[in-house]
Amino acid sequence: MLTDYHLHLRPDEDRAQPYERWFTADNVDRYLAAARAAGIEELGVSEHIYRFRQSLDLWDHAFWRSQAVDDLDAYCEFVRGTPLRLGVELDYVPGAEKRTAELLAARDFDYVVGSVHFVGDGAVDMDEFGIWAQEGDPDRVWQQYFEAVARAARSQLFDILAHPDLVKVWGALQPGPRQDPRSYYEPAVEAIAEADIAVEVSTAGLRKPAGEIYPAPAFAEMCVEAGAQFALSSDAHVPEQVGYEYEQAIALLGSLDVTEICVFERRRRSLAPLGAAAARARRS
Ligand SMILES: [Zn+2]
Ligand SMILES: [Zn+2]
Repeated sequence: MLTDYHLHLRPDEDRAQPYERWFTADNVDRYLAAARAAGIEELGVSEHIYRFRQSLDLWDHAFWRSQAVDDLDAYCEFVRGTPLRLGVELDYVPGAEKRTAELLAARDFDYVVGSVHFVGDGAVDMDEFGIWAQEGDPDRVWQQYFEAVARAARSQLFDILAHPDLVKVWGALQPGPRQDPRSYYEPAVEAIAEADIAVEVSTAGLRKPAGEIYPAPAFAEMCVEAGAQFALSSDAHVPEQVGYEYEQAIALLGSLDVTEICVFERRRRSLAPLGAAAARARRS
Protein backbone atom coordinates (compact mmCIF):
# COMPACT_ATOMS: atom_id res chain seq x y z
CA MET A 1 0.00 0.00 0.00
CA LEU A 2 1.10 3.52 -0.85
CA THR A 3 -0.93 6.55 0.21
CA ASP A 4 -0.89 10.24 -0.55
CA TYR A 5 -3.14 11.90 1.96
CA HIS A 6 -1.71 15.37 2.22
CA LEU A 7 -2.69 16.93 -1.09
CA HIS A 8 -3.91 20.33 -2.20
CA LEU A 9 -5.93 20.78 -5.38
CA ARG A 10 -4.42 24.21 -6.01
CA PRO A 11 -1.09 25.99 -5.58
CA ASP A 12 -0.56 28.10 -2.43
CA GLU A 13 0.37 31.14 -4.54
CA ASP A 14 -3.02 31.08 -6.18
CA ARG A 15 -4.99 33.58 -4.15
CA ALA A 16 -6.79 35.46 -6.89
CA GLN A 17 -8.26 32.55 -8.84
CA PRO A 18 -11.69 31.35 -7.82
CA TYR A 19 -12.19 28.06 -5.99
CA GLU A 20 -14.18 26.75 -8.98
CA ARG A 21 -11.08 26.77 -11.15
CA TRP A 22 -9.46 23.96 -9.15
CA PHE A 23 -12.30 22.03 -7.53
CA THR A 24 -13.39 20.32 -10.73
CA ALA A 25 -13.77 16.71 -11.83
CA ASP A 26 -11.08 17.29 -14.45
CA ASN A 27 -8.54 18.49 -11.92
CA VAL A 28 -9.32 15.56 -9.61
CA ASP A 29 -8.85 13.22 -12.60
CA ARG A 30 -5.38 14.64 -13.14
CA TYR A 31 -4.45 13.80 -9.53
CA LEU A 32 -5.98 10.31 -9.82
CA ALA A 33 -4.07 9.64 -13.04
CA ALA A 34 -0.83 10.76 -11.42
CA ALA A 35 -1.53 8.47 -8.44
CA ARG A 36 -2.23 5.50 -10.70
CA ALA A 37 1.03 6.10 -12.57
CA ALA A 38 2.89 6.22 -9.25
CA GLY A 39 1.29 3.04 -7.88
CA ILE A 40 -0.54 4.97 -5.13
CA GLU A 41 -3.75 3.25 -4.09
CA GLU A 42 -5.10 5.68 -1.50
CA LEU A 43 -5.43 9.32 -2.40
CA GLY A 44 -6.96 12.04 -0.28
CA VAL A 45 -7.16 15.80 -0.30
CA SER A 46 -6.45 17.99 2.69
CA GLU A 47 -7.06 21.62 1.81
CA HIS A 48 -5.77 24.32 4.15
CA ILE A 49 -8.40 25.28 6.71
CA TYR A 50 -7.47 28.93 6.33
CA ARG A 51 -8.77 28.99 2.76
CA PHE A 52 -12.27 28.66 4.25
CA ARG A 53 -14.39 31.34 5.90
CA GLN A 54 -15.13 29.04 8.83
CA SER A 55 -11.45 29.20 9.89
CA LEU A 56 -11.96 32.76 11.13
CA ASP A 57 -13.94 31.28 14.03
CA LEU A 58 -10.65 29.68 15.13
CA TRP A 59 -8.10 32.40 14.60
CA ASP A 60 -8.14 36.07 13.70
CA HIS A 61 -4.82 36.51 11.93
CA ALA A 62 -4.14 38.92 9.04
CA PHE A 63 -2.86 36.10 6.80
CA TRP A 64 -5.94 33.98 7.44
CA ARG A 65 -8.22 36.96 6.83
CA SER A 66 -6.55 37.46 3.45
CA GLN A 67 -7.17 33.82 2.50
CA ALA A 68 -10.48 32.76 4.03
CA VAL A 69 -12.93 33.12 1.16
CA ASP A 70 -14.23 29.60 0.38
CA ASP A 71 -16.93 27.55 2.07
CA LEU A 72 -15.78 24.47 4.00
CA ASP A 73 -19.05 22.60 3.54
CA ALA A 74 -19.03 23.12 -0.23
CA TYR A 75 -15.51 21.66 -0.23
CA CYS A 76 -16.59 18.62 1.80
CA GLU A 77 -19.54 18.05 -0.50
CA PHE A 78 -17.37 18.33 -3.60
CA VAL A 79 -14.72 15.89 -2.33
CA ARG A 80 -17.39 13.39 -1.24
CA GLY A 81 -18.54 13.29 -4.86
CA THR A 82 -15.07 12.14 -5.98
CA PRO A 83 -13.03 8.96 -5.28
CA LEU A 84 -10.72 11.02 -3.02
CA ARG A 85 -10.60 10.56 0.73
CA LEU A 86 -11.81 13.67 2.53
CA GLY A 87 -9.23 15.34 4.71
CA VAL A 88 -8.33 18.82 5.85
CA GLU A 89 -5.03 20.43 6.84
CA LEU A 90 -5.85 22.15 10.07
CA ASP A 91 -3.47 24.45 11.91
CA TYR A 92 -3.23 23.89 15.62
CA VAL A 93 -4.47 27.12 17.19
CA PRO A 94 -3.55 27.20 20.88
CA GLY A 95 -6.57 28.15 22.96
CA ALA A 96 -9.05 27.31 20.18
CA GLU A 97 -9.18 23.58 20.94
CA LYS A 98 -12.89 23.53 21.76
CA ARG A 99 -13.90 25.51 18.67
CA THR A 100 -11.62 23.33 16.53
CA ALA A 101 -13.21 20.16 17.92
CA GLU A 102 -16.67 21.55 17.14
CA LEU A 103 -15.70 22.48 13.58
CA LEU A 104 -14.41 18.93 13.02
CA ALA A 105 -17.29 17.13 14.73
CA ALA A 106 -19.78 18.83 12.39
CA ARG A 107 -18.17 17.20 9.31
CA ASP A 108 -17.37 13.64 8.28
CA PHE A 109 -13.67 13.81 7.46
CA ASP A 110 -11.70 10.63 6.78
CA TYR A 111 -8.71 12.16 8.54
CA VAL A 112 -7.44 15.44 9.88
CA VAL A 113 -3.88 16.55 9.19
CA GLY A 114 -2.63 18.74 12.03
CA SER A 115 -0.07 21.41 11.22
CA VAL A 116 2.06 23.94 12.98
CA HIS A 117 2.94 26.71 10.53
CA PHE A 118 3.10 29.55 13.07
CA VAL A 119 5.02 30.25 16.24
CA GLY A 120 2.90 32.84 17.97
CA ASP A 121 1.91 35.23 15.17
CA GLY A 122 4.96 34.48 13.03
CA ALA A 123 5.05 31.94 10.19
CA VAL A 124 8.02 29.56 10.12
CA ASP A 125 7.63 28.76 6.41
CA MET A 126 6.72 32.11 4.81
CA ASP A 127 8.50 35.43 4.39
CA GLU A 128 5.16 37.16 4.74
CA PHE A 129 4.33 37.37 8.48
CA GLY A 130 7.58 35.42 9.00
CA ILE A 131 8.93 34.60 12.44
CA TRP A 132 12.56 34.78 11.37
CA ALA A 133 12.50 38.54 10.90
CA GLN A 134 10.90 38.95 14.36
CA GLU A 135 12.99 36.49 16.38
CA GLY A 136 16.75 36.55 15.90
CA ASP A 137 17.57 33.50 18.03
CA PRO A 138 17.05 30.28 16.05
CA ASP A 139 17.10 28.18 19.23
CA ARG A 140 14.10 30.16 20.54
CA VAL A 141 12.22 29.50 17.31
CA TRP A 142 13.05 25.79 17.34
CA GLN A 143 12.10 25.41 20.98
CA GLN A 144 8.76 27.19 20.55
CA TYR A 145 8.02 25.36 17.33
CA PHE A 146 8.47 21.91 18.89
CA GLU A 147 6.54 22.96 21.99
CA ALA A 148 3.65 23.83 19.69
CA VAL A 149 4.03 20.47 17.89
CA ALA A 150 3.84 18.67 21.25
CA ARG A 151 0.72 20.62 22.21
CA ALA A 152 -0.82 19.90 18.81
CA ALA A 153 -0.21 16.17 19.28
CA ARG A 154 -1.60 16.19 22.82
CA SER A 155 -4.71 18.11 21.76
CA GLN A 156 -6.08 14.86 20.26
CA LEU A 157 -7.68 16.94 17.51
CA PHE A 158 -5.67 15.37 14.70
CA ASP A 159 -5.04 11.97 13.12
CA ILE A 160 -1.80 12.87 11.36
CA LEU A 161 0.95 15.26 12.43
CA ALA A 162 2.00 17.08 9.25
CA HIS A 163 5.60 17.89 8.25
CA PRO A 164 6.69 17.44 11.88
CA ASP A 165 9.94 19.42 11.61
CA LEU A 166 8.75 22.15 9.25
CA VAL A 167 10.90 24.62 11.22
CA LYS A 168 13.92 23.41 9.18
CA VAL A 169 12.23 24.43 5.89
CA TRP A 170 14.73 27.17 4.97
CA GLY A 171 17.76 24.89 5.33
CA ALA A 172 21.02 26.83 5.11
CA LEU A 173 19.11 30.05 4.28
CA GLN A 174 18.35 30.48 8.01
CA PRO A 175 20.73 29.84 10.89
CA GLY A 176 20.00 26.50 12.53
CA PRO A 177 19.87 25.84 16.26
CA ARG A 178 23.10 25.75 18.24
CA GLN A 179 21.78 22.95 20.42
CA ASP A 180 21.51 19.35 19.22
CA PRO A 181 18.14 19.25 17.41
CA ARG A 182 17.35 16.00 19.27
CA SER A 183 16.89 18.00 22.46
CA TYR A 184 14.01 19.78 20.67
CA TYR A 185 12.59 16.61 19.10
CA GLU A 186 12.45 14.86 22.47
CA PRO A 187 9.38 16.54 24.05
CA ALA A 188 7.57 16.36 20.71
CA VAL A 189 8.26 12.64 20.34
CA GLU A 190 7.09 12.04 23.90
CA ALA A 191 3.79 13.79 23.11
CA ILE A 192 3.46 11.92 19.79
CA ALA A 193 3.84 8.58 21.56
CA GLU A 194 1.42 9.51 24.34
CA ALA A 195 -1.19 10.84 21.93
CA ASP A 196 -0.69 7.97 19.45
CA ILE A 197 -0.89 10.39 16.53
CA ALA A 198 0.45 9.23 13.15
CA VAL A 199 3.66 10.98 12.10
CA GLU A 200 3.65 12.24 8.55
CA VAL A 201 6.60 11.28 6.37
CA SER A 202 6.42 14.11 3.83
CA THR A 203 8.58 14.39 0.75
CA ALA A 204 7.69 18.09 0.48
CA GLY A 205 10.89 18.96 2.34
CA LEU A 206 12.84 17.69 -0.67
CA ARG A 207 11.26 20.47 -2.76
CA LYS A 208 12.22 23.15 -0.22
CA PRO A 209 15.60 24.73 0.64
CA ALA A 210 15.90 22.15 3.45
CA GLY A 211 16.30 19.46 0.77
CA GLU A 212 15.32 16.79 3.29
CA ILE A 213 12.23 14.72 4.02
CA TYR A 214 10.12 15.74 7.02
CA PRO A 215 10.94 14.37 9.59
CA ALA A 216 14.76 14.29 9.70
CA PRO A 217 16.21 10.77 10.03
CA ALA A 218 17.11 11.32 13.71
CA PHE A 219 13.56 12.52 14.46
CA ALA A 220 12.06 9.56 12.57
CA GLU A 221 14.32 7.17 14.45
CA MET A 222 13.19 8.59 17.79
CA CYS A 223 9.56 8.19 16.67
CA VAL A 224 10.17 4.52 15.83
CA GLU A 225 11.83 3.95 19.20
CA ALA A 226 8.80 5.51 20.89
CA GLY A 227 6.47 3.17 19.01
CA ALA A 228 4.88 5.77 16.73
CA GLN A 229 3.17 4.93 13.42
CA PHE A 230 3.66 6.78 10.15
CA ALA A 231 1.51 8.21 7.36
CA LEU A 232 2.94 8.82 3.91
CA SER A 233 2.32 11.97 1.83
CA SER A 234 3.84 14.34 -0.71
CA ASP A 235 2.00 17.59 0.19
CA ALA A 236 1.50 18.01 -3.56
CA HIS A 237 0.00 21.28 -4.76
CA VAL A 238 -0.10 20.21 -8.43
CA PRO A 239 -0.73 16.75 -9.96
CA GLU A 240 2.93 16.40 -10.99
CA GLN A 241 3.92 16.33 -7.31
CA VAL A 242 1.72 13.35 -6.35
CA GLY A 243 3.99 10.66 -4.90
CA TYR A 244 6.95 13.03 -5.26
CA GLU A 245 10.27 11.21 -4.61
CA TYR A 246 8.54 8.38 -2.78
CA GLU A 247 11.54 6.10 -3.34
CA GLN A 248 13.39 8.27 -0.81
CA ALA A 249 10.55 8.11 1.73
CA ILE A 250 10.29 4.34 1.35
CA ALA A 251 14.07 4.05 1.75
CA LEU A 252 13.95 6.15 4.95
CA LEU A 253 11.17 4.02 6.43
CA GLY A 254 12.91 0.83 5.28
CA SER A 255 16.15 1.90 6.97
CA LEU A 256 14.17 2.14 10.22
CA ASP A 257 12.53 -1.27 9.69
CA VAL A 258 9.10 0.33 9.33
CA THR A 259 6.97 -2.11 7.31
CA GLU A 260 3.48 -0.61 7.76
CA ILE A 261 1.80 2.74 7.16
CA CYS A 262 -1.46 4.21 8.39
CA VAL A 263 -4.63 4.28 6.31
CA PHE A 264 -7.75 6.20 7.35
CA GLU A 265 -11.46 6.06 6.79
CA ARG A 266 -14.01 8.18 8.69
CA ARG A 267 -11.28 8.97 11.21
CA ARG A 268 -10.57 5.32 11.95
CA ARG A 269 -6.97 4.30 11.52
CA SER A 270 -5.65 0.94 10.41
CA LEU A 271 -2.24 -0.28 9.31
CA ALA A 272 -1.35 -1.59 5.87
CA PRO A 273 1.89 -3.10 4.59
CA LEU A 274 4.12 -0.40 3.13
CA GLY A 275 4.05 -0.96 -0.63
CA ALA A 276 7.73 -0.75 -1.35
CA ALA A 277 7.41 -3.45 -4.00
CA ALA A 278 5.08 -1.32 -6.10
CA ALA A 279 7.46 1.63 -6.04
CA ARG A 280 10.44 -0.55 -6.87
CA ALA A 281 8.62 -2.08 -9.83
CA ARG A 282 7.84 1.41 -11.09
CA ARG A 283 11.45 2.48 -11.01
CA SER A 284 12.78 -0.45 -13.04
ZN1 LIG B 1 1.45 22.55 5.82
ZN1 LIG C 1 -0.08 21.12 2.98
